[in-house]
Amino acid sequence: MKNDLLRVATLMKNSHSMIAFTGAGVSVESGIPPFRGPEGLWSKYDPQCLDLDFFHTHPLESWTAIKSIFYDFFGKAKFNEAHRVLADFEAKGLLKALVTQNIDNLHQMAGSKNVLEFHGNSQKLICPHCKTIYLPNEVNLDDLPPFCKNDGEVLKPDFVFFGEGIPEEAYRRSILAAQKADVVLIIGTTGEVMPAAMIPTEAKRAGAVIIEINTEPSNYTNNITEIFLQGKASEILLELEGLIHLKR
Ligand code: NAD
Repeated sequence: MKNDLLRVATLMKNSHSMIAFTGAGVSVESGIPPFRGPEGLWSKYDPQCLDLDFFHTHPLESWTAIKSIFYDFFGKAKFNEAHRVLADFEAKGLLKALVTQNIDNLHQMAGSKNVLEFHGNSQKLICPHCKTIYLPNEVNLDDLPPFCKNDGEVLKPDFVFFGEGIPEEAYRRSILAAQKADVVLIIGTTGEVMPAAMIPTEAKRAGAVIIEINTEPSNYTNNITEIFLQGKASEILLELEGLIHLKR
């Protein structure tokens, strides 16, 4: 493991266009569980609350679950050391872009700037009609569902629901970043959710070295990963930060 960490630190130091691709695992140490599995959110809530058709036909039922998951729970989570180290890598010019499948806003709270939100962001609400964006504290979430002040439409959290397309701009910029990347850090994702899962594959096809950090092997591990660093995201990233001498 020590040799692998040293190899990765050297690759990172010599890189010109490194990107990161993150998933739910990076936020597990912030207390946000993945969706699936015995401790996952879908063991407590019905995933149909995030189905687009169901949301339109049952706004109050959907919003009751959404408020509980994304505003009473996600909204109170704090970023962890993994988010913080990635933001520092960017601030030091080492990390050029961060493509995330997460919708919890924790990368941004930790200070990451060039975050490509492949699945949107739960900490913003959007009017599907006039596209006005609201922050959670700008709407009354004690009176559900929340409505747009301009046109009275039911507001929707600004992340991708089941049955909804990927935001075009984030999609386009993620593909471009993947095609330009010379090193990709995949962190805390099973690589099962399409089309997001193909971002590292696209980078590999264009010649990038794929490094993976995860507590368990994923779809990528025996496939496109060149160096697999097994462990918690925060612990591995802190070790890498130490090796690259990027400590503040
Ligand atoms: P996933 O739930 O399918 O997989 C999580 C991965 O993280 C697993 O491979 C697991 O081994 C790994 N992991 C768990 N703890 C870890 C840790 N401490 N350090 C490193 N790795 C760890 O997640 P996914 O692949 O991101 O796909 C799930 C989908 O659900 C995504 O589309 C995502 O948008 C969404 N989701 C988002 C959040 C969030 O915003 N925090 C939370 C749950 C799900």
